[in-house]
Amino acid sequence: MTGPIDDIAARADAGRAPSRARSGPPVHRERHFAERIGWLRAAVLGANDGIVSTASLVVGVAAAESARANVLIAGVAGLVAGAMSMAAGEYISVSSQSDTERADLARERRELATTPDAELRELQGIYVARGLDPDLARRVAEQLTAHGALEAHARDELGFTTAHAARPVQAALASAAMFSVGAALPLIVAAVAPSRWIIPLVSASSLLFLALLGGLAATAGGASRLRGALRVTFWSALAMGLTALVGRLFGAAV
Ligand SMILES: [Zn+2]
Repeated sequence: MTGPIDDIAARADAGRAPSRARSGPPVHRERHFAERIGWLRAAVLGANDGIVSTASLVVGVAAAESARANVLIAGVAGLVAGAMSMAAGEYISVSSQSDTERADLARERRELATTPDAELRELQGIYVARGLDPDLARRVAEQLTAHGALEAHARDELGFTTAHAARPVQAALASAAMFSVGAALPLIVAAVAPSRWIIPLVSASSLLFLALLGGLAATAGGASRLRGALRVTFWSALAMGLTALVGRLFGAAV
């Protein structure tokens, strides 16, 4: 399912005469980190959450001296519950972003229909504020308005871009899938490790996976790999440590 911004871009592209509108020097294509932000954030968040919550669950249940079958049942239940809640949470939050975008665009469309001159002056003002002189800004505003008024206002006035457009289903599926992948890692380790090695092996391997994930996310986002890895590892170790403590106390109590 595409968002309101995609619809505008698609309509503008459909209306555009490709050869005449795009004559001139070939555009060299460069990829910016910003293009990856949308899906990267959901994917890393999902995988990270999957590893931390499932590894903590497995370590906590194992710390309560439970049999391997109980540890795995708890882990699988955690995976399913976590994936569903991630998907639901992401879908709801991105849908509300999509609703806001749709409402803003509907208002913009109305204003373009009722007060086109004021909208043109507004667009001119935006280009003047960006450094164009008033005459040139006027001509740019006129040409872009003729080319696709709503697209120009969506991009330059509202700041909407297709790179950041809200795609609820895509975001929900991405985070649920990544949560499941993340959660499967400690589960596989718990399934193959000797019983009395489940806690140390699940903890160590999960921290390793998290450090790799943190470093990967930092690299893809153009940030420091080491800092990314350390940040994720520290907070995850804290979460797992506290859960193991609770599991140990709970195990001793029952
Ligand atoms: Zn406007």
